[in-house]
Amino acid sequence: MDNDDFQLQFQQQLHHFEQICKSAGLKLTHQRLEIYRELLEAQDHPSAESLHKRLDARLPSLSLDTVYRTLTTFEKIHLVHRLETRESQARFEALTLRHHHFLCDQCGQVIDFSWPAFDAVELPQSLAEIGAIQRTSVAIYGKCAACLAHEQQAAEPPTADTSMAVAPDTATNG
Ligand SMILES: [Zn+2]
Ligand SMILES: [Zn+2]
Repeated sequence: MDNDDFQLQFQQQLHHFEQICKSAGLKLTHQRLEIYRELLEAQDHPSAESLHKRLDARLPSLSLDTVYRTLTTFEKIHLVHRLETRESQARFEALTLRHHHFLCDQCGQVIDFSWPAFDAVELPQSLAEIGAIQRTSVAIYGKCAACLAHEQQAAEPPTADTSMAVAPDTATNG
C-alpha cells in the first residue's frame, strides 16, 4: 500500500470513527480523537500503558486511567478490539479491515495476517445454540521469524577459528 492509499484509508477510518461516536451519543473530545488516532497508527496492538506513554508528549494532562476508560468505551461501541493474549495486560487495536493474529510465544509480538479462505468458511450450526456470533477471528500461536532467526544465530558456533578467511557463498536460489 503506498502512502496515498494509507492516507485515504486513515481519513476514511477517522470519518467512520466520528460517525460511530455521533450515533452512540459520545462527545467527540480532543482526547478521544487523539487516543483513537494513536491506536489507528499503531501496528503493534499496544496495551493501554504503552498507548499512554506514546500520547504523553502531546497530551501531558491525560491520565492512564482515562486512556483505559476511553478504550473500554470504544470497545463497547465496536471501534476497538481487545485482544486475548497470554499476558496479564490487555492489548488493543482499532477495528479496521478483517484480519487474524499470529501470537509469538517467545516475545509476545502480535502480527496481523489475512485469511480470505477462512473468512469464507461456513461456521458450525452448533454455534447457534451457544449464542449469537459478533465477530470471528483466528489466533495462531508459535514463534515469530525474528525469534527464530535469533535462535538460529545463537545456535551457530562462532567461526573465528577458521584457518582461511574465505567469503561464504552468499548466493541464494529462492
Ligand atoms: Zn517473537
Ligand atoms: Zn490485529
